[in-house]
Amino acid sequence: MELACLDLEGVLIPEVWINFAERTGIDALRATTRDIPDYDVLMKQRLRILSENGLGLADIQEVIAGMRPLEGAPEFLDWLRERFQVIILSDTFYEFAEPFMRQLGWPTLFCHRLGVDGDGRVVDYHLRQPDPKRNAVIALKQLNFRVIATGDSYNDTTMLAEADAGILFRPPQNVIDEFPQYPVATDYDQARGLWAEASLRDL
Ligand SMILES: [Mg+2]
Repeated sequence: MELACLDLEGVLIPEVWINFAERTGIDALRATTRDIPDYDVLMKQRLRILSENGLGLADIQEVIAGMRPLEGAPEFLDWLRERFQVIILSDTFYEFAEPFMRQLGWPTLFCHRLGVDGDGRVVDYHLRQPDPKRNAVIALKQLNFRVIATGDSYNDTTMLAEADAGILFRPPQNVIDEFPQYPVATDYDQARGLWAEASLRDL
């Protein structure tokens, strides 16, 4: 049995924090895992900037409500779900993801939770576990699944390494340079082709 693990932001939906940075005009919020590989450093920086600017969860959710999946993403996800069991492994938060999950037909999502105080301020975040994408793949392999994974960024590379096959989707050049062992798809048609190659079955 083969199982598909997909990153969310950059693969199926736009980067939430970049959109939020554009809406608020706060340039420092544009940083993502593409820029800062250490997720804890990145999240602490984001929480500090939110606090300094008096921005809360409702402000971020308002931006997210106006966002849509990447063009072609729902069709790509449907294509995968007809052929594999699909699990989305993301470093986003359930508090952010719900509008997208509705638009994508409620796929299975493993991600994190935010800590929000009584005034709606984001004061903390709770990772489900360390290195969650890699640990999810390890667990799924123990269930006798062969895992094929796709991601776009630094925080996906341990997942890709642990998977039986890894594919990069529209990664930044620095990730391509540092991880030349993974094939790269620049659009969903190419991604379908690479998934068909990675699968042991005749898709
Ligand atoms: Mg991503």
